[in-house]
Amino acid sequence: MGLIVQKFGGSSVANAERVFNVADIITKTYQEGNNVVVVVSAQGDTTDDLIEKAKEINPKASKREMDMLLTSGEQISASLLAMAIEKLGFPVVSLLGWQAGFQTSSAYGSARINNLVPDRIYKELDKRNIVIVTGFQGINKYRDMTTLGRGGSDTSAVAIAAVMHADRCQIFTDVEGVFTADPRKVPTARKLDVISYDEMLELASLGAQVLNNRSVEMAKKYNVELEVLSSLTRKPGTIVREVNEMEKLNVSGIAKDTNVAQFSIIGVPDRPGLAFRIFSKLGANDINVDIILQSIGRNGTKDISFTVASNNRAATSELLGDYIETLGASSIIYDENVAKVSVVGAGMESHPNIAAQVFEALYNANINIRMISTSEIKISVLIDQELADLAVRVLHDKFFSPDFTA
Ligand code: ADP
Ligand code: ASP
Ligand code: MG
Repeated sequence: MGLIVQKFGGSSVANAERVFNVADIITKTYQEGNNVVVVVSAQGDTTDDLIEKAKEINPKASKREMDMLLTSGEQISASLLAMAIEKLGFPVVSLLGWQAGFQTSSAYGSARINNLVPDRIYKELDKRNIVIVTGFQGINKYRDMTTLGRGGSDTSAVAIAAVMHADRCQIFTDVEGVFTADPRKVPTARKLDVISYDEMLELASLGAQVLNNRSVEMAKKYNVELEVLSSLTRKPGTIVREVNEMEKLNVSGIAKDTNVAQFSIIGVPDRPGLAFRIFSKLGANDINVDIILQSIGRNGTKDISFTVASNNRAATSELLGDYIETLGASSIIYDENVAKVSVVGAGMESHPNIAAQVFEALYNANINIRMISTSEIKISVLIDQELADLAVRVLHDKFFSPDFTA
């Protein structure tokens, strides 16, 4: 008998029919003699709808009250799924995050899991119950409910699999696995059989929302092998694990992120310490800066451009708006009409011409590059947002056409 963790995303439990479909997957796994712990997200677009509801009442609602609201979405899906399983005649219990033992930091809206004490889950499994846990949530030291940030249910599932040493951790979603690009945008995208933690982490961090990046980070840290698969077609999915040299692909995927804003500070005095002052001010306010570009100094000044996540756009403007005078810079401009498109691949390191091929493909499609950033396993370019889908397609054609050679 094994311990299997199964996570079902919002689309997998969007309506009564889907809830019963999921109940069938779970009870089949249980009937094979396994202990089953299920993590479930809110149904369909429930979380987005709740956010809209909150905005109607108070667009500046506190993060604590937002978490009080958003945790309810998972409570609905968990209880409905448990009711479906009861109806099929199996023993089941649904638990909220705190009942399942999720202790988190106090950061409402983006809490981290500090500890997971799954005593109650063990107790229920001992009684041979199927255990359904609400994803995306826990409790902090004030005994308030917290959420783990959007897409956080994946992380809840991986945490349970890690702490309880599960034999399998399956992330069920609405596509058949991890593809070489978003299969909804690129019809020729191919499903990957295996992908390494590092590549998956890059893809997830660079916009492929099929897995939440924190869940991949945690899976790597605790060596939890993940399977991403469809709850609808029930075919084998993609395995996320450590891969060996032989299995490494030159390029494993293309990702797009439109949640980006570009800032440029114009006329920054060309002397030491200015970049330090700008970026430490942002860092002190928990604003992550991504791509940074600095022009060559001319006539005693230079320009510094950088990107932040769109949801930090207003805070960045506010922080730097007044500060540029203190710095002696002349102006600050921002543009939200941008997107970051990235090519990810573990084999890239040993194939330096991949960068040139990225630029060639974009040039052939007449796409202008605003900024570039590279690491050992990725190349990201910042471009105009309306060209992002085209960029993903031409890059996908380039690297995944049958005659591609690095
Ligand atoms: P869930 O509700 O199950 O958590 P998400 O909507 O968070 O599902 O993630 C699944 C979606 O991720 C897919 O419907 C797909 O459009 C998108 N996606 C983006 N990039 C990729 C990729 N490289 N491979 C698979 N899916 C991707
Ligand atoms: N329901 C939450 C969200 O929409 C958590 C999740 O789906 O993982 O972000
Ligand atoms: Mg998700």
